[in-house]
Amino acid sequence: MTDSLISSAYSQALEVIASVEPRIADATRQELADQRASLKLIASENYASPAVLMTMGTWFSDKYAEGTIGHRFYAGCQNVDTVESIAAEHARELFGAEYAYVQPHSGIDANLVAYWSILAHRVEGPWLSDAGVKNMNDLSEADWEKLRASLGNQRLLGMSLDAGGHLTHGFRPNISGKMFHQNQYGTDPETGLLDYDALRAKAKEFKPLILVAGYSAYPRRVNFATMREIADEVGATLMVDMAHFAGLVAGKVFTGEENPVPYAHVVTSTSHKSLRGPRGGFILATEEYAPSVDRGCPMVLGGPLSHVMAAKAVAFAEARTPEFQGYAQRVADNAKSLAEGFLTRGAKLVTGGTDNHIVLLDVSSFGLTGRQAESALLDAGVVTNRNSVPSDPNGAWYTSGIRFGTPALTSRGFGHDEFDTVAELVVDVLTNTEAGTNKAGAPSKATYVLNDGVADRVTKQSAEMLDAHPLYPGLVLS
Ligand code: PLP
Repeated sequence: MTDSLISSAYSQALEVIASVEPRIADATRQELADQRASLKLIASENYASPAVLMTMGTWFSDKYAEGTIGHRFYAGCQNVDTVESIAAEHARELFGAEYAYVQPHSGIDANLVAYWSILAHRVEGPWLSDAGVKNMNDLSEADWEKLRASLGNQRLLGMSLDAGGHLTHGFRPNISGKMFHQNQYGTDPETGLLDYDALRAKAKEFKPLILVAGYSAYPRRVNFATMREIADEVGATLMVDMAHFAGLVAGKVFTGEENPVPYAHVVTSTSHKSLRGPRGGFILATEEYAPSVDRGCPMVLGGPLSHVMAAKAVAFAEARTPEFQGYAQRVADNAKSLAEGFLTRGAKLVTGGTDNHIVLLDVSSFGLTGRQAESALLDAGVVTNRNSVPSDPNGAWYTSGIRFGTPALTSRGFGHDEFDTVAELVVDVLTNTEAGTNKAGAPSKATYVLNDGVADRVTKQSAEMLDAHPLYPGLVLS
């Protein structure tokens, strides 16, 4: 697609939007300007291609299509069937999966669908057939009561939030921590690395129905063959949430035992992080689990977002190219450059480094909380998010860490030298930031003082790199 086509398409679209609600058109222009002008280092964000973005802005948004391909609860779904079939076919081929379900609206939806599917397959199915029930509609109120009790007494073992897991992996305040008896595994207190022996021992003691692998903030690869062995030893279903690293799987950076697809019974994911697609979720499963995953609607979901399923198809098609494989490798290489950049400047990293797309900086050595560091960095145009470190003394709100990710800036063309400079700029900001006090003069975990001139200095240096690697080069809005 040529630059002028994209420029005129977006300029005209913004004119149409402005004719109805100019403030939304203005905010949309401003968002592009802001994204262009900042160092986006949030590990879960990326920049989707104009083709992916444009696919979301169509009349597929208007169509209801509850149900599954060829089996909808609404008339006139023939084109949605086409779109969903293509997206699922691409997902199966891209990841080498037996079955793909592309309806989940987000990663959390994908996880909820997966949990209920596994319950349906492991608990509801056998329970129903043991009770001689062929059809859910035949269940009496007493049967439902029994079913609820049996579903509600299942166990889930996932990675704890402060070790890098996600809310939906059994965190107490999340629905996943309420619908299951939950337990969590952590990382080795010395190394910060996953301790498979400790995990195995915990699994043997806890005997989960579902073992969840995957992470939001763990800067290392996981051995999914070992995870499957542990799951098999305790009779658990292995569910891998690859929301963060799906791009590294698609791009063949994670292969063999680091690729979850051949080992997990069910894999959930988002499409918008390292995979660089539209915001959304999807599920891969073995044939065995496919029928229950297919019941995502009506079990958990309503109408699928057909326009987003279409955009997932486009993103999956992009991810099948050699260019995407090159991109994925650069994401991992750049994370190493960023980590080395921090280490050579004396900063402390959780696990001492990275071998995926995440670098987790422990900012306590700068005398700061994650909250203070995140705010000071933002003042200098460096967009990150604060994150807990293992056994974080500052809890999940203030935290002691800053999570960095390389997918977005790698999409802009940043390489080794730029990421080394990013490390230099971050260290510059943090060494020039002091923890602040509250109104009463007591130490505060939120306030901070950034020395004069630092924000300007860092913003200027980043502007040089950002200008050299423009976001959506050639996209000029009139
Ligand atoms: N799973 C993991 C591992 C994540 O990191 C996230 C998001 O940060 C999600 C699931 C949820 O994704 P979404 O925000 O699309 O619901």
